[in-house]
Amino acid sequence: MAPFKALLQLSFLLTSSIAQVAAHQQPLADSRLAINGIQFATRAYWMRVANQALSDLVSPCPFGAFGTAIVNHTSGEGLGELVCIGANSIGSTGNPTLHGEIAAINNCTSVLTSPTGPYNLTASQAQTAFKSLSLYTNAESCPMCASAIRWAGFKEYIYGTSIDTLIEKGWGQIRIASADVFAASYDLSAATRLMGEVLTNETDPYFAWQYDPEYACPAGCERQMLPCLTVLMRATQGLITGHDLQLISQISNLQYLLEKKSPVDANDVDLECPGQHQSAKQGIGSEGYLDRYDLIETLVNRSYLRSTPNRM
Ligand SMILES: [Zn+2]
Repeated sequence: MAPFKALLQLSFLLTSSIAQVAAHQQPLADSRLAINGIQFATRAYWMRVANQALSDLVSPCPFGAFGTAIVNHTSGEGLGELVCIGANSIGSTGNPTLHGEIAAINNCTSVLTSPTGPYNLTASQAQTAFKSLSLYTNAESCPMCASAIRWAGFKEYIYGTSIDTLIEKGWGQIRIASADVFAASYDLSAATRLMGEVLTNETDPYFAWQYDPEYACPAGCERQMLPCLTVLMRATQGLITGHDLQLISQISNLQYLLEKKSPVDANDVDLECPGQHQSAKQGIGSEGYLDRYDLIETLVNRSYLRSTPNRM
């Protein structure tokens, strides 16, 4: 019996592997089709609202440019009705779970149940209401958010930029496609229709500039020099964090070098803050005077860089 059992196990493993490969090859419907009777122009309108949520709630080009709009397409004719928006709120709250989608689900829960709001639903009614709503997000949800979307039972889930594109643009991702999360959620009663890569010509630019110094910021935005000053200030206090290293990518090639192989040679790193280096020095004052060598030394001390650069 033992060899037969082993053969069965092998057969199961092979079947699982094939299933996983197949899941990654699941095709998406063409994003311009009229799925559920809703025209592409309407989908594009709401994807633009998801992009606009960044300006409305954070800034025209935040580093984590993940925006969401939650819409009721069942309330009548026309475009449908906006219930709430949300944007990545980790930076403003410190809550690491507040991706754009989770922030929007929280916002909509408040809107739906507020006694002074337009819906004034009970908790139970709000739970039911989510099953009629469509969630638009300008980038494909991570597995946490895709799972939340399935737990909520949304009627539709529409994303712009794919996880594959985010990875290509330098973003760290948990590499499980939404289609795979959805495929594994068959125990849940409510079905959610998935539509992917909608209006990517407008969503992709929001995620293409953060790790690519050569890529222009989205329309209406400029790269901010303030993070550079912030990093310099923190470096004087020995408080360089992983988030600072993200910010440094906006002002130098350090992030690129760190990603290649860490630690890197400090002499390869250019840590100038364009246009604000002088004011950064002035802002810190004589006691906390800092130049690129001080910053690099701080990074060396914290094992981000290999060697102390030669002072010129
Ligand atoms: Zn997420």
